[in-house]
Amino acid sequence: MSHQVREGRIVVISGPSGVGKSTVRKELLRSSPVPLVRSVSATTRPPRPGERHGVDYYFLAEDQFAQLREKGEFLECFQIFGGHWYGTLRQEVERILSAGNWALLEIDVQGARRIRQQNPNAVTIFILPPDEEELVRRLTGRGTESPDRIAERLARMKAELAFAGDYQYQVVNDDLSAAVNQLRQILLEESRKGSTAATE
Ligand code: ADP
Ligand code: 5GP
Repeated sequence: MSHQVREGRIVVISGPSGVGKSTVRKELLRSSPVPLVRSVSATTRPPRPGERHGVDYYFLAEDQFAQLREKGEFLECFQIFGGHWYGTLRQEVERILSAGNWALLEIDVQGARRIRQQNPNAVTIFILPPDEEELVRRLTGRGTESPDRIAERLARMKAELAFAGDYQYQVVNDDLSAAVNQLRQILLEESRKGSTAATE
């Protein structure tokens, strides 16, 4: 990929559903030590109450998503929960990086692998739950999914946890502010290494 020194970095955050990724992300965006901008993904899943187009996701119809996919507009895209598509738009990330900002991608383990292959300079972070029981409590407590959907997400949980070791950093989201502090520290260290460090 590009070796421009001034370009921002891609930061990938993954973790099982319900672990607290979006909660952590919101806090981190408020207090990041680097100019971090969230890359808004596209999805065919329907919006949850309160979710907004262009803010939480670009909510697309199946055929709109398929068209973009055929045109090669995604850096990565996969079918995840309930057969719904999720994807990172090439333009979205390029816009963020070319402005000198760092792009925060909150994506699943398949998407993360694809990004790592394309962009070895990406910073990759996996968010872990304190334990599985707490993860189940958070997922059911959020109350946004039907029992069927919760079962699907729980079934996927163990498979996803097995990928934690593929990431450069693992952060346990037990105490929220401690987890966010750790993320800040990681970004600070990465910014000190500079953008040429990850080419080894
Ligand atoms: P994800 O984006 O990973 O699916 P969410 O951010 O939606 O997860 O969090 C799932 C639930 O867990 C939410 O109800 C959220 O308020 C709660 N939560 C997140 N982080 C913590 C934490 N550190 N301690 C306790 N509850 C948390
Ligand atoms: P949710 O439906 O809870 O918003 O997200 C479900 C899963 O999709 C999460 O694991 C989230 O990280 C992942 N996801 C969100 N956007 C993308 C994306 O653009 N690409 C990929 N590969 N996964 C995504």
